[in-house]
Amino acid sequence: MPNLELLPINVAGEWRLGGGDEYQSLYPATGEPIARLRAASLADVEEAIARADVAFRTSGWAQMLPHVRAAVLHRVAALIRERAEDLAQKQRLDNGKPISETRALVASAAGTFQFFAAALETLEDTITPSRGPYVTMSVHEPMGVVAAITPWNSPIASEAQKLAPALAAGNAVVVKPAEVTPLMALELAKICEEAGVPKGIVSVLPGKGSVIGDAITKHPLVKRVSFTGGTTTGKHIAHIAADKMMPVSLELGGKSPTMVLEDADLDHAVAGVLYGIFSSSGESCIAGSRLFVARGIYDEFVTRVAEAAKNLRVGDPADERTQMGPLITAKHREGIERYVDLGVSEGGRIRTGGVRPQGAAFDKGYFYTPTILEGLTNSARITQEEIFGPVLVAMPFDSEEELIAQANDSVYALAAGVWSRDFKRAWRLGRAVQAGTVWVNTYKQFSVSTPFGGWRDSGLGREKGREGIFQYMEQKSMYWGTNEQPIPWAK
Ligand code: NAD
Repeated sequence: MPNLELLPINVAGEWRLGGGDEYQSLYPATGEPIARLRAASLADVEEAIARADVAFRTSGWAQMLPHVRAAVLHRVAALIRERAEDLAQKQRLDNGKPISETRALVASAAGTFQFFAAALETLEDTITPSRGPYVTMSVHEPMGVVAAITPWNSPIASEAQKLAPALAAGNAVVVKPAEVTPLMALELAKICEEAGVPKGIVSVLPGKGSVIGDAITKHPLVKRVSFTGGTTTGKHIAHIAADKMMPVSLELGGKSPTMVLEDADLDHAVAGVLYGIFSSSGESCIAGSRLFVARGIYDEFVTRVAEAAKNLRVGDPADERTQMGPLITAKHREGIERYVDLGVSEGGRIRTGGVRPQGAAFDKGYFYTPTILEGLTNSARITQEEIFGPVLVAMPFDSEEELIAQANDSVYALAAGVWSRDFKRAWRLGRAVQAGTVWVNTYKQFSVSTPFGGWRDSGLGREKGREGIFQYMEQKSMYWGTNEQPIPWAK
């Protein structure tokens, strides 16, 4: 094992070893440790939140004029860009994603800070129509200490998506990254410090979700939790939030349908379907994991997708040409294998994949081949439950009515894809499918200026978009009396 120094965590601006158990972050492509650290302890949580509250009240961050605070966030964006390659390589090691993907995530994190700096600088409070001798205004205030709890599948982008608007809004932020991917949040905290965010305003507390995440969520000084992760955890957080009367945003799981109509441009659709499910090794909340294809083109289309899936370059995440890296952990791969076995026991046929790739290059890492199953209905467990891996279930459909009924038959409603050259049909289906995001003739494209979130078990609330900053602010109405006379009461 390489000689790795223990990494400090960030307790309200103080860099020190966590008070919890020691653990390692492993490189999923080889299983080798790439970082050692001690998790935060419950005492660290208590101290970080208490000091964050003091920093919120006394550091001047919340009161800073918008253009001044925005300038700090612009510096954060610039520093991320300056260190982009180093950050992308670290994230590749922490999470095992191909380098081409981690570079894109780092660029997106910089763009997110830039966007919310602009949103802050151009944010306008409103004067509302008056109904009496007073001027009425609607203004926004920061909340205090807020928490960001993130999963392991897209670090840096997930953290930036919460940290940037929460800081822009003037809050202090406690970040709880996933246990297995702590590095990017720690790097972001360093960058925030260098950019001029006052000490205490950012904390990063790695550790077990059920202990550290739970304690942060329950803490009375935490005024909002922005959570991205699994639906079961999200519901647990929602219960705690209800007890505290605390607002939450929950970005949860998905089982997104992709619909390919007879008149689709098949070259585009094949590429889009592959990218939609197999990029990020399928470890993506918006993965297009249920494929519905018009029966008339079903055989041709699925044959093309299966051939292309076989040719995807699975392997070394450091190689610029790699399209699919390993899965996050050995345990997660075992879970995916159990799902594929379940699919087969439910009557499914493996069209391609369904095995670990062979060869010395794959021996130590947690690799799995792109997998397509057929012969299942939309009600099979493997078609209904989120697998969070490179597993696609393909099904034919006969009518638009049946298609929409099946696409919407899911507890999840995060995203959907429609492939058709007929814009009227695409419009109709795009409006009829229940999902937070619908891609028409494209898939898995993202813009920070467009709100993102899910319906039903896929979550509550929206991130991104100019309004994203308001998630981290309380709204206040102000009445300014203009009457020359007293209220006719004391006469
Ligand atoms: P997870 O729910 O296990 O963990 C997410 C985060 O919550 C981690 O930091 C974890 O430590 C923490 N956590 C766990 N238990 C907690 C508790 N009791 N209290 C507070 N925090 C707790 O999810 P995961 O396995 O890390 O990520 C995969 C899941 O995330 C998938 O379901 C995926 O669909 C979802 N996801 C959703 C989106 C989205 O934007 N909708 C994006 C990415 C991932």
